[in-house]
Amino acid sequence: MAGHAYDSHCPFCRIVRGEIPSSKVLETDDALAFLDINPVNPGHVLLVPKSHHLNLTELPDATAAQLGSLVPRLCRAVQAATQADGFHLIVNNGRAAGQTVDHSHWHIIPRFSNDSVHWPWPHSQYSGDQLSQIQLRIERELNSPPGDG
Ligand code: 5GP
Ligand code: ZN
Repeated sequence: MAGHAYDSHCPFCRIVRGEIPSSKVLETDDALAFLDINPVNPGHVLLVPKSHHLNLTELPDATAAQLGSLVPRLCRAVQAATQADGFHLIVNNGRAAGQTVDHSHWHIIPRFSNDSVHWPWPHSQYSGDQLSQIQLRIERELNSPPGDG
């Protein structure tokens, strides 16, 4: 499903239009960055495309490229302004991954050596030929024409 310019039920579309107030830090023709209202740490920024797209997999490549080109500068600014020791760049995609707002957005979350954020995630191990099977499946998906299967 392609995105569209505006969804009146979407909080981030409404922020883009100025119908909901936000603390903006960067604005371009295609993108907006503003402070998350409930930050993991102070300086937590959300970067969104101005057009409404459900999630990352629905973003046109050109829109993703426009957003991506802003990320290093935005991250440098967040890190310098907050004196953070590091940061996360995170996209929660789908309910299972914790996405709560259905307008694609990228989190930039400053991290401090002594903060109380839990990291890392638990890691597991592959068994048998699971690793090579998954590698094959992903490669096959990448090489199949759009809309095929
Ligand atoms: P998600 O869980 O979908 O990856 O992240 C959504 C984020 O949007 C949350 O961190 C939440 O605090 C933030 N958020 C939700 N509504 C608003 C809002 O109206 N204004 C701002 N600035 N942030 C919001
Ligand atoms: Zn939207």
